[in-house]
Amino acid sequence: MTEATLTRSVPDVLAPGRLFIGGEWQDAESGKTFEVIDPARAEVVTEVAEADAADIDRAVRAAREAFEGNWHKTTPRQRGRLLWKLAERLEERKDEIALVETLNNGKPLFESGIDVAMTIQTFEYYAGWATKIEGETIPVSVPFQFNYTLREPIGVVGAIVPWNFPLNLASWKVAPALAAGCTVVLKPATETPLTALLLADAAAEVGFPPGVLNVVPGQGRTAGEALVAHPGVDKIAFTGSTAVGQHIARVAVDTVKRVSLELGGKSPNIVFADADLPVAAKGALNGIFYGKGEVCAAGSRLLVEESAHEQLVGMVAEGADGMKVGDPLEKGTRIGAVVSEQQMETVLGYIRKGVEEGARVVAGGGRADIEPGYFVKPTVFDDVTSDMTIAREEIFGPVLATLTFDGVEEAIELANDSMYGLAAAVWTSDVKKAHYVASRLKAGTVWINTYNLYDPASPFGGYKESGYGRDLGRHALEGYTQVKSVWVNLR
Ligand code: NAP
Ligand code: MG
Repeated sequence: MTEATLTRSVPDVLAPGRLFIGGEWQDAESGKTFEVIDPARAEVVTEVAEADAADIDRAVRAAREAFEGNWHKTTPRQRGRLLWKLAERLEERKDEIALVETLNNGKPLFESGIDVAMTIQTFEYYAGWATKIEGETIPVSVPFQFNYTLREPIGVVGAIVPWNFPLNLASWKVAPALAAGCTVVLKPATETPLTALLLADAAAEVGFPPGVLNVVPGQGRTAGEALVAHPGVDKIAFTGSTAVGQHIARVAVDTVKRVSLELGGKSPNIVFADADLPVAAKGALNGIFYGKGEVCAAGSRLLVEESAHEQLVGMVAEGADGMKVGDPLEKGTRIGAVVSEQQMETVLGYIRKGVEEGARVVAGGGRADIEPGYFVKPTVFDDVTSDMTIAREEIFGPVLATLTFDGVEEAIELANDSMYGLAAAVWTSDVKKAHYVASRLKAGTVWINTYNLYDPASPFGGYKESGYGRDLGRHALEGYTQVKSVWVNLR
């Protein structure tokens, strides 16, 4: 798509957007709709039907019927082929989908393109798995007994996702669930329902049976809560904040639902003095400013070894100052709009707090001078200590907190001094040090001399209060299946 052809309007199927339940576009039973905002313009893009408990109930029934009916009878090969066809259809529609993602989330168009590409790869990857989910034979010690296991789909999955990677994080749940033979009710974030609806549209186009994938935009407190409490749902796959994740786990316990939680982070990016410093500085910038810092695994704490501190912080601050903030549809933009006005206010509040608590701003430091959208300058703090709010709490915005350490053990101690444990990175030219530190970090992902790499084959998830369960890889499939032990008397 050339820049000239970019329009700010959405495809017909989203004007207005409706609920996708049982293979049909439907209005909410209440007739309610809500406005979807383009944060780069502070203007309404379209309206979408707003699901509440009654609609969630319809969607769960449709998913249950599909699970017990046709979907259960499809062969693994048929499921794999459908998932592959969906990937192909997304490829054909990738420009349209990326544009909608940018209009809704405010991220630069090139980033939305990467999101769509990763989504396609995720469906391709799990298309391959559909035919490879196997049980085992077990050598039991009871004479004349044959024992084997079946790995069966868990049933109806409620997927609840946040606004930072609306389509991509949906695919992390939907693709393995469908490959395993589950059916899905997907609730996107209120801020960003549009690409989830396009995913439903593409799934219908390639022939997924009705009810296999249902998409129900609505508020967390109403629609989300109803999904978590619904007795017809067997598992909740959640990505979002730690506070909401804790609440979901509490509500889900009443129906003993399986729950997987991918929650927040405050990931340390550790730079040793023996690292290739210009490369590490670029990595630090990518680590925090990709996706406007609205990345669960953002490298939001930069830990720098004392002897390299001045040089590295200088490079990072200069790099941040040089990043183009602005219209996410314009070529060259590195930092788009913060997802919403409310989120912008949250981020600006943290910046003020950092200053109040004695940290020093060395780049950015406030709202960018671009109206009427919600733009925050890429901000770098130096002289941060581990007790400060900006070192402890997830900001989920373009704000980097720099701390200083002396030696390997102090680096590890500082890195692990957090309730979170989602990701971490180590920058050093010493191979032994790199692997030693990786082994000591309490984090679900560790990057060595790189940052923000993902692949559908590699598991992703948290240690500590960053959650439990894993997305991606074969590990995710375990979360959408359950094991049955079958005994056969051979005598
Ligand atoms: P959030 O407020 O936790 O919301 C996430 C999702 O949960 C949204 O769809 C939300 O709906 C829904 N929700 C809210 N309250 C609910 C309830 N009581 N019952 C059921 N569902 C409910 O998170 P967010 O503000 O969208 O996203 C930012 C957070 O997500 C950050 O903390 C970030 O770290 C985390 N995150 C983690 C990962 C990871 O993989 N670990 C990835 C991305 C983001 P509404 O939109 O209507 O509130
Ligand atoms: Mg929210």
